[in-house]
Amino acid sequence: MGLYCFGIDVGGTTVKCGLFLTDGTLVEKWEIPTRTENNGSEILPDVAKAIQSKIQERGLQKENIDGVGIGIPGPVNDKGEVPLAVNLHWGFKAVASELSFLTGLPAKAANDANIAALGESWKGAAEGAKNVVLVTLGTGVGGGIIVDGKIVCGHHGAGGEVGHANVNHEETFACNCGNHGCLEQYASATGIARVANEILEDSEENSILRSYTKINAKNVLDAYKEGDKLAIRTMEKVGDILGGALSIFSCVIDPETIVVGGGVSKAGQPLIDCIQKYYKKYAFPSCKDTPIVCASLGNDAGIYGAARMVIKE
Ligand code: ZN
Repeated sequence: MGLYCFGIDVGGTTVKCGLFLTDGTLVEKWEIPTRTENNGSEILPDVAKAIQSKIQERGLQKENIDGVGIGIPGPVNDKGEVPLAVNLHWGFKAVASELSFLTGLPAKAANDANIAALGESWKGAAEGAKNVVLVTLGTGVGGGIIVDGKIVCGHHGAGGEVGHANVNHEETFACNCGNHGCLEQYASATGIARVANEILEDSEENSILRSYTKINAKNVLDAYKEGDKLAIRTMEKVGDILGGALSIFSCVIDPETIVVGGGVSKAGQPLIDCIQKYYKKYAFPSCKDTPIVCASLGNDAGIYGAARMVIKE
């Protein structure tokens, strides 16, 4: 094992970069812009330049660096190849081999939500756990699955796409993916607002939520914490759907810890309690007591997980 490794997390507007010690200490983090012009052809060269200048600035020896891990917003196969990354304007790109060529260091690539799961299982809310399910509740629902300490990327790079698990066969609205009844349609920030609007329309009861012209997930969660009846009905429905989906993932993975991240998880323990109640109801008996916890690394989870991928055991 070397002394250092780099963890890179590529987003649509910025690239997060981290220099780590291989024991998991974050030495330094910084950001560079994501240049998506010319089909994103400069993104990997920019990352390589950022790494090279950090190596020079700190006088690091390449033989002391285990490598560079990189997270990409799109599917990534186990060879570190990306068939398509819309946000980066990329078609097919052999990310790991290109980055290795550009930096002269070993490189690995994985999906950004998957590396976040690995980060949380390394130094975050599931620290030390070898089997972890992460579900990220943001604008959409993403996630990552860690089995035996390794990312499950799957055959198409779609492993961990938990947001598109079908949870309602009767849904008539379409999901962003084109299917109907995906978890994302209920448990994302947009999903929670949509469920709340439907419940408000179906009821005559008073609610704090009626005072908003356009309801967002934070309004619903705040009202939920205040004990608002219709907000409670909304979150009970969301908790039922999400807890049920997690119980199915547990039948497949049997995780040691389930981690909930993303903007919606800022609602904290009341949200976790609501999910846990339904999870416990539906889970297979052996898995009923699996802890559900809030993610703890925030936006740094990706650079942690990216760095973890390249550490030589
Ligand atoms: Zn979907």
